[in-house]
Amino acid sequence: MPSRIERLQQQFDQLKIDAFLVSSNGNLQYLTGMDDLAGAGYLLVLAHDTYLITDARYQTAFAKEYEHDHLVITRDYLAAVCELIAQTNTGVMGFEETLPYADYSYLDEYLVSDLVALSNVVEALRVVKSAAEIAKLRAAAQLADSGFGYVTSIVRPGMRECDVSNLLDAFMRSRGASGPSFTTIVLGGARAALPHGVASNAHLTAGHLVTLDFGYFLDGYTSDMTRTFALGTPDAKLKTAYEAVQAAQQAVVTQVRPGAVSADLDAVGREMLTTAGYGPAFNHGMGHGIGLEIHEAPLISTNSSATLVSDSVVTVEPGVYFPGLGGIRIEDDVLVTATGHERLTQATHDLVIL
Ligand code: ZN
Ligand code: ZN
Repeated sequence: MPSRIERLQQQFDQLKIDAFLVSSNGNLQYLTGMDDLAGAGYLLVLAHDTYLITDARYQTAFAKEYEHDHLVITRDYLAAVCELIAQTNTGVMGFEETLPYADYSYLDEYLVSDLVALSNVVEALRVVKSAAEIAKLRAAAQLADSGFGYVTSIVRPGMRECDVSNLLDAFMRSRGASGPSFTTIVLGGARAALPHGVASNAHLTAGHLVTLDFGYFLDGYTSDMTRTFALGTPDAKLKTAYEAVQAAQQAVVTQVRPGAVSADLDAVGREMLTTAGYGPAFNHGMGHGIGLEIHEAPLISTNSSATLVSDSVVTVEPGVYFPGLGGIRIEDDVLVTATGHERLTQATHDLVIL
């Protein structure tokens, strides 16, 4: 089976490039196995050769893990890129469109080859997960289930949102997580109407619905899970809306299979919520891929033409938000299998009333 770098090199003809410069963290990690390289080096992939250009801090780690590639140790990364491109007579170098402008500007001035900005090159390779990656995502999802179980065992009215996120953080790290992949969202009552608000000093109150959205890296791969639960008897309108979100989420997950078109998946849940009267209250996309990063391809949204493929992992996360009252979101991580899907996060979807 071709290596990840060989799969990238196999794309060169189609992309009309002779080299590709990798600068973003997730893609560097995917291709080199080393984390936190972004800003501390580049991977220059040529048709038959690969150069990791970084500084002395990474020399030992690289020598241990990647004896087959060329290692260029310098503080002047981009000058080294230009020199290698000149030496190898490279015609066209592709680069990631997320490259910082200052870096682009330098290359534009000093690189002898042509430059072309490309998007979704390594990201497209990352969509299909290997068996080892799927095992890590499954383990990360199982840990998320445990995290939700832990939160429901300790949360009480009077706690602050940040108390919950701090306790969850300690729990997840004690079980092997290296850290969160985004700032944990704990929102009680009316604050849950902010889909991307984060845990604050606000106190949780009896009768509140609480939205908990969190993802933690385990062995390099992240989970992403949302549950909404109640502290005591919730508002009747919110309870009814919860059931609508639960039904929509279930309907979308049921449709996850290879060949499913992202926009159609989005429509399945969106139409159910619209019919139930919650159309305008659902104001974000239906989901996204996960892996080494919290947001990967494919996007599942109204305008996404992406088609699901087996061995990818996506979230399904409809939600409804009522300003001044509260919000509800339910999110699972779902593996696309050869014939359908497998829910990786398995905590109950029924409204948990504590
Ligand atoms: Zn999430
Ligand atoms: Zn998500």
